Amino acid sequence: MTHLSTDTSYTALRLSIQQGKRISDEDILFLYHHATMAQLSQLATTVKKRYHSSDCATYLIMAIINYTNICVAKCDYCAFYRLPHQKDTYLLSFEEICQKINALTALGGTMVAFNGGFHPKLKLQDYAELFHKLHQKYPHLGFYEMTVAEFMFACKRSKTPYSDGAQMLKEAGSIWITGGGAEVLTESFRKRHSPGKFTCKDYYNAQRALLNAQLGSTATMVIGFDETTEERFQHLKDLRTFQDSLEHKLHSFLCWTYKPDNTAFGGKEIDNEEYLKWMAICRIYLDNFVHIRTSVLTQNKDALKALLYGANDFDLPTEDEVTEKAGAEISTDFQNILNYAKHLGFTLKHRKPWLPQPLRG
Ligand code: SF4
Repeated sequence: MTHLSTDTSYTALRLSIQQGKRISDEDILFLYHHATMAQLSQLATTVKKRYHSSDCATYLIMAIINYTNICVAKCDYCAFYRLPHQKDTYLLSFEEICQKINALTALGGTMVAFNGGFHPKLKLQDYAELFHKLHQKYPHLGFYEMTVAEFMFACKRSKTPYSDGAQMLKEAGSIWITGGGAEVLTESFRKRHSPGKFTCKDYYNAQRALLNAQLGSTATMVIGFDETTEERFQHLKDLRTFQDSLEHKLHSFLCWTYKPDNTAFGGKEIDNEEYLKWMAICRIYLDNFVHIRTSVLTQNKDALKALLYGANDFDLPTEDEVTEKAGAEISTDFQNILNYAKHLGFTLKHRKPWLPQPLRG
């Protein structure tokens, strides 16, 4: 491997980034293939300092409630879903959802995220009614409601255009429809692993409709399947362009890692160093994202090392059956995790749930 500490290309790149310039597609590839971890940490921290203090991080406590495991998308990397005719299917009642929310608040949680399957019988109106009832009952909590992928499917089942669907959720009091379900946003990846889920163009159209309705949304990525380097960079390139076209309305970017247990696709998990390296690449390249979030859910406390590689925020999860079924292990020993961030030299702030741009004062 070529180390770049004395390399003029690295020095030129470092100066350019320090001056606030945007990195090119060619240069980020160069860094991915040749930079050391120390160099990536330095560059990612330089970009992070445009938005945040380098030694502070924020977090909150969040449950991901999986309201149904019935799904017809059949992604081969998913250990969670059951087809409608299979055993062990469920659709949680309102009361069961409330029990889970109460368990979260007992642990100090303030954010409720929802993630379910592509349930063929649920219409968008059903989701809107559920969310409306939850907003009434828990006005003090933050809600990440459907993912963009689920929103797309529910709109299709309801024969509702995305713009009308977004309006319906807005009227139900929804604030966030997160960018979950994106995994790797290239057509080649989708064709290999989840051909029935969506096309990338359609995904971005749906997300744009949500943002146009003044709802908040986020960007996500999952790595560690069999995606090629080109596919990973295609995802970042399209996302940076999309975010520019939106005048930076996507609030945050979260990257997590594929868990292979009990999935049809199988495979082996990538190691923490590859995750940290990719997090640094994301922070350096996605210079139009204020918040880069690291995944305690899939990397446990090692996720916090990503604070040294450009991340500035994380959540402490209390439950998520989707990743737990595939091998994720969740710890509610929050103090132990938080102490690790302090050990790495970070001052932590327990933040409130964010509000999207149009709702901020
Ligand atoms: S990842 Fe989501 S959409 Fe794909 S099969 Fe699993 S639950 Fe369904």
